[in-house]
Amino acid sequence: MRPFAPQLSIQGLLLAVVASGALAGEFESRSHQCPHLPAARLEWASHYRACPLPGTVTLADESSQGFAWAFPLKCITPAATENNTAPRADCLFTSTSFRNGHGISLIASAITTSHLIGMGSFDDAPLPLAAQQRLSLGPAYKIVPVEGKGMGVIAARSIKRGEIIMTDHPAILIGTSFLANSKPHHRRRVLKQAIRQLPEATRKKVESLQRGKEEYEVDAILGPNANTVLLGEEGGGQVHVGLFAETARINHACRPNAHSKFSERRLTMEVMAHRAIEAGEEITMSYIPITTPIEERHKYLKEHWGFDCTCPLCRSSKDAIEESESWRRRQTSLKSTIEDARKQGFYEDAITMSEEWLQFAEWDMIPPLAPEFQDSLVDLYLQNGDMVNATRYARMAYDGWAKFGSVDDEKLEDARLMVNKIDKINEEKRQR
Ligand SMILES: [Zn+2]
Repeated sequence: MRPFAPQLSIQGLLLAVVASGALAGEFESRSHQCPHLPAARLEWASHYRACPLPGTVTLADESSQGFAWAFPLKCITPAATENNTAPRADCLFTSTSFRNGHGISLIASAITTSHLIGMGSFDDAPLPLAAQQRLSLGPAYKIVPVEGKGMGVIAARSIKRGEIIMTDHPAILIGTSFLANSKPHHRRRVLKQAIRQLPEATRKKVESLQRGKEEYEVDAILGPNANTVLLGEEGGGQVHVGLFAETARINHACRPNAHSKFSERRLTMEVMAHRAIEAGEEITMSYIPITTPIEERHKYLKEHWGFDCTCPLCRSSKDAIEESESWRRRQTSLKSTIEDARKQGFYEDAITMSEEWLQFAEWDMIPPLAPEFQDSLVDLYLQNGDMVNATRYARMAYDGWAKFGSVDDEKLEDARLMVNKIDKINEEKRQR
């Protein structure tokens, strides 16, 4: 698998960026960089003040400088209201070359799309070294029929705790404003077109997903298989619905052995192992936040996915279930207490409670992402003026992120900057 092979269309865009003088280095953060030339060709583009819009970019056959979407854009503009004179149009953008021909159909506002292009989300930069090494290990999973559940994902070989099992890209990404504001028949027509425009292999994967009971085909495909992910302008906090055709095959368990993490910068879902997994074992994830109490879990699973949970935990003894519920309650309360202590400046208390937090890893209640935990301790030790421990955890976090080997090396880069910052503080102290 070579998911990040170079793509000419993206490079064409980057050339246009360079030509306009908007080099990445001139901006503090790549995410705030305006991605391309303001050549306002669409009426509504002039309503926006911020970055130039991807809707203004020419199609491949019209110009060699534009971002080459594979099909003419299809846009839906909701009716203007009194408070909203410049309604937010949502368009269907399809790239068939994305990730070495995996392809993607994005239904989002022009601003969100512009933001993603500017951040390099469609860009096929080489993978970080650890991610490349992981690929050489061969596939960690296979998709096979699982008794009583249709299809499922099982481990093709033994998998280590914390290892990334699967990397998957969205076939379709949909902004929730489009889902909320479009008329049902418009919505279905655009969604159908979004699927139809995908490259054949990806389209077939999408069409073969297990269907829900919804009346219309697109709703039945999306209903039980879609995920929500956060991305977009203003700090990446906007809910989008994503269809990840491989991740969607992973079945639910209330005490799962895997957990997923989405990277906006790489438009990639990474699934990692909570604990060591044997070859042949089913890979499971929780479809709802892990701390949700059992009654709510069962109700939600039934309402949203239409099944009664028969996972190993739900089939186990009353005592085992009660033990798991008490872990969930403790985690919920500890999380808010740590946050309160941090806000009020009780750093020592926050540190002690954070150490306690580690216990949850034993019960597979938190992803075994030690570097994430160490990052937060670095911050607490720094605030508390304990440079010895801040230095120790900063180095551990850096080593941890390097070893984790995500396709997105943003955390690794943050950890490296933190180590440098702490080294500088230590050096200044020595000189005093
Ligand atoms: Zn269950």
